[in-house]
Amino acid sequence: MTNIILMGPPGAGKGTQARHLVETRNMVQLSTGDMLREAQASGTEMGKKVAAIMAEGKLVTDEIVIGLIREKLQEGSEGGFIFDGFPRTLPQADALEKLLSEMGLKLDAVIEMQVDDEALVARITGRSTCGDCGEVYHDATKPWPADGKCANCGGGNQKRRPDDNEDSLKTRLMEYYKKTSPLIGYYWAKDNLQRLDGLASIDEVRKSIAWILGE
Ligand code: ADP
Repeated sequence: MTNIILMGPPGAGKGTQARHLVETRNMVQLSTGDMLREAQASGTEMGKKVAAIMAEGKLVTDEIVIGLIREKLQEGSEGGFIFDGFPRTLPQADALEKLLSEMGLKLDAVIEMQVDDEALVARITGRSTCGDCGEVYHDATKPWPADGKCANCGGGNQKRRPDDNEDSLKTRLMEYYKKTSPLIGYYWAKDNLQRLDGLASIDEVRKSIAWILGE
């Protein structure tokens, strides 16, 4: 069982790599962004409360995301957990450490995916996903099939996130540099930081992660 954090700015490729690890290693992906979007889609009070904050690109409160993670951790995972988009602040990192130790679990690695800002803008503004299976597309590098059907599941439900526009992205990046990037030093000091080049191909990044996980 392996527990890891995937860290990196929006668009670094965390979700893409997490999906692969779920399929190949039986790990459970805990993406606070996905959980918050699900809460919005199902119209819960909390979902309504965070919608505007997310569309703007700001962070929602620590209390909300820590609550979501606590709930999901209790469901357990045989292969281990991938934390994707969490923790994003120092209080969230402290809370995670406490939750894991209460459950007798530990973090095996924190993987930082490094990508420069210009590449992020290009990646994010062209991004779409399949609303049915979650396959990720990009207008320039992997366009949504011309027949309108997802190449992975055949569904016709192409989606774009309301915060995948240049204005929100600037706010998201600012939030990342101000509040999340200090975690890189924090985990470096704890001796479990691993860095990789997020500009490499999807396959190369997969290989780097496999190497870090000791395969
Ligand atoms: P990104 O592609 O920017 O990494 P995510 O899907 O992880 O996006 O998150 C989308 C939005 O959800 C964030 O901009 C933020 O508003 C909110 N969010 C997700 N995770 C957290 C978190 N751990 N703490 C606070 N806000 C979060």
